[in-house]
Amino acid sequence: MLSLSALRDTPALLKLDLYCRGMQVDPSCYVEEDGGRGIMRTRAGLGSGLEVILPGGLWTNVPVTESFARASSYVLHRLDGGYVIRRDGDDVAQVQLSPRPAWYDAKTASGKPMTRVGTLQGTYLGVYPARVCDFWLRKPEKTNCKFCSVGLNLGVDDAVEKSVDEVLEVVRAARETSGITYVDFNTGHYDGETYLDILEPYVRRIKKEHRLLVGVQSPPHQDLEKYDRLRAMGVNRVSFCFEIYDRARFQEVCPGKHAYYGLDRYLDAIRYCALLGTRGPSSEPWVTNGEIIAGLEPPESTIRAIDWLTSVGAIPTVCVFRPLRGTDFEHMPPPDAEALVPVFRRLYESCMEHGLPIGCAPNVHVSLVMLPEECAGLSDRRYPWQRVKLAAMKRAFAAQFAWRTAHAR
Ligand code: SF4
Repeated sequence: MLSLSALRDTPALLKLDLYCRGMQVDPSCYVEEDGGRGIMRTRAGLGSGLEVILPGGLWTNVPVTESFARASSYVLHRLDGGYVIRRDGDDVAQVQLSPRPAWYDAKTASGKPMTRVGTLQGTYLGVYPARVCDFWLRKPEKTNCKFCSVGLNLGVDDAVEKSVDEVLEVVRAARETSGITYVDFNTGHYDGETYLDILEPYVRRIKKEHRLLVGVQSPPHQDLEKYDRLRAMGVNRVSFCFEIYDRARFQEVCPGKHAYYGLDRYLDAIRYCALLGTRGPSSEPWVTNGEIIAGLEPPESTIRAIDWLTSVGAIPTVCVFRPLRGTDFEHMPPPDAEALVPVFRRLYESCMEHGLPIGCAPNVHVSLVMLPEECAGLSDRRYPWQRVKLAAMKRAFAAQFAWRTAHAR
């Protein structure tokens, strides 16, 4: 078990341990009455928890509804109008509730609650614009990824389809009242590989009307030139969720992805996209992410995935496995945080060793994963020159972003 002093001194350790152990919410807490965000089951299964801000400004989404969380030794208490996390009765950290934006209570002109169109995950807007992933629709064979809750959540807190106008209305509200800088689109698999075509009208309108940063997370399209087109359109991030680097485990956990795409197609798309940085509009930054889940394969295998990704110029996005209610893996134990510390240490070190642009986007705090830069506290290595370079990039990018959004409509 991680020591109290380590958890108090290193917020990254606390963020990681809370992902793994979850937290109980004491009856003294009035999350929504105190301006916090309610718990929502949107299509991003990992967003099933309570959004809070840890010391050091680390935004997170702490599991609270799963059975392991209900037995956690961490408990959130309300104390003198503030919030504190205790472990077995000892104070660990004062935390803030992630603020619930005013637009969460608004509806679109078409009458949909705005939260069924998009939700904040940390400080960015996440949108799942199209129908449920086709891997959930195949019967009688089961082809959905076994950790995934997408097919369970649709229609619960998330609308089935969202028009471009509805999404743009929510983007405007989120920009004006929450100051978002980044919109992330996420799709599952659609037979016919229509996912990038579906996203294009949304991306074009956001770029034209708001000039915000936009990212696309979808399966790897067979026509790689589609990514040149996204790059030219001003998309800033593409992300490919291959989840697991061990081939046998990938096949077992992600049967649909294995049968339709295969791991190599994910890796080929990542390698291709990571080279597009120099081939698009210089005013639009570009990053390629490969997303993996720590806790579903041995840590050494996750570390191999991290090192492969950084070696080709991609930034790893590393989630922590959460055994979500109702999923095929509901009854699996969550991972052990101590076993994952080397994974997240390596995440930071590998990105720094390869000079990757981590932590440069303005006001992007992510609650669903540990960002590489958040893991600096897990490493003894300092990388002084790389830190100076990143700080300069961050300043320059913030100034350029402020200028261009000020000149948006
Ligand atoms: S591809 Fe897998 S993880 Fe993604 S939505 Fe479909 S079933 Fe879920």
